[in-house]
Amino acid sequence: MTVVDTGPVWGRSRRRPPTQAPPSADVVVIGGGITGVSLLHWLQRYRLRAVLLERDHLAAGASLRNAGFLLAGTAANYAAAVAQYGRDVAGEVWCFTLENHSRCAALLASRRTGYRRCGSWTVAASGEEAAQLREAEQLLREDRLRAEWQQHPAGVAGAGHGALFNPDDGVLDPVAAVAALADLAPAASIVEGIAVRAVEPSGGRVRVDAGSIEITAGAVIAATNAATAQLLPGVAIRPVRAQMLATAPWPHRVASRPAYAHWGFRYWRQLDDGRLLVGGQRDRAVDDEVGHQAVPTATVQEHLDAHLSELATGAAVTHRWAGIMGFSDDGLPRAGAVPGMANVYVCGGYTGHGLGFALSAAGATVRLMVEGRAPPPWLDSRRPSLTSQPR
Ligand SMILES: Cc1cc2nc3c(=O)[nH]c(=O)nc-3n(C[C@H](O)[C@H](O)[C@H](O)COP(=O)(O)OP(=O)(O)OC[C@H]3O[C@@H](n4cnc5c(N)ncnc54)[C@H](O)[C@@H]3O)c2cc1C
Repeated sequence: MTVVDTGPVWGRSRRRPPTQAPPSADVVVIGGGITGVSLLHWLQRYRLRAVLLERDHLAAGASLRNAGFLLAGTAANYAAAVAQYGRDVAGEVWCFTLENHSRCAALLASRRTGYRRCGSWTVAASGEEAAQLREAEQLLREDRLRAEWQQHPAGVAGAGHGALFNPDDGVLDPVAAVAALADLAPAASIVEGIAVRAVEPSGGRVRVDAGSIEITAGAVIAATNAATAQLLPGVAIRPVRAQMLATAPWPHRVASRPAYAHWGFRYWRQLDDGRLLVGGQRDRAVDDEVGHQAVPTATVQEHLDAHLSELATGAAVTHRWAGIMGFSDDGLPRAGAVPGMANVYVCGGYTGHGLGFALSAAGATVRLMVEGRAPPPWLDSRRPSLTSQPR
């Protein structure tokens, strides 16, 4: 199979009018994905003079290439998260993502971002997964969080073992969401086409070296997700590839809600116009699906095709793409100060779930920077790893 990389289904964000970067700023944000524009939102609240530098164009990274699921919790289901992080932390993380979702809804629902709180399905692909999802439902209910196990959910593909309904989840168009948040920022605060080469604390400020230009800032926040360690080698966020495909409009409704299955390694949704998005299958080639090359591969795409044919036999594939996610060592984001670098901060490492965390994680980072309020320990960039590597 020869794979043609057509790029994501969302289309590119519109290029912004050219802007000159200023020689100095209160804060420089590096990276123009969902995290970068979320940071601008919070920085504006504190009336700080911020400039965002993006090496390509807004939403050029994972924020262009994702499925647009706005989910509660981490990639692991709630029972797995409780086992991994303990009950208190799992509950706090879940509530943090619910709050993130509410903030997204408040900012994005009225702005043509395709945002909808439609709920999602976590589909059990085996008896073992079904048992864990039933346990997840039980634990969520005990913690006064919402989920409903359904043994025979109507119209949910591949749900022979049952599925967990998550009423608080939703969807959006990720590129439109980034554009909407960018539109809320002062026009001159976003500069595209500037790649930062180095960040260096100097005399109580931070020097940002971007080759042709140099900026001196009071503080710098890296919103570079998978590329963070290239700039800040001390931050443990590693690049992991994920792949998707999309089809032409399919006349039958095969997914009324976003669905997530097989421990998160399969996911799909159907857009309002009938187009199907199918992603995942990273577990088929887990050692290959790492690094910075955002190119689809035959191995994973063949498995995506096979999954597609179970959902909609004969649907024509129009798009195939890959993107690079930033994985942390324990599956939780890292937000806060960069050890050993005064006035340098990081916000990223969402391990495949950035839409669910970014807006609130950006808020926690800015509050730390401005008010000195520490992020929750499980989010803090300086925490020791809470568990072993996520898959
Ligand atoms: C196929 C796929 C499906 C996914 N599906 C979902 C989903 O359904 N739901 C969900 O919540 N998450 C999903 N994710 C993960 C989600 O896309 C990410 O967590 C999220 O987009 C991260 O946003 P970000 O702004 O932190 O990083 P990015 O969007 O990657 O932005 C980082 C930006 O930094 C820029 N940059 C990097 N280095 C420099 C530098 N030196 N100088 C200047 N700019 C620089 C890059 O160009 C990039 O634009 C998916 C990811 C992929 C790949």
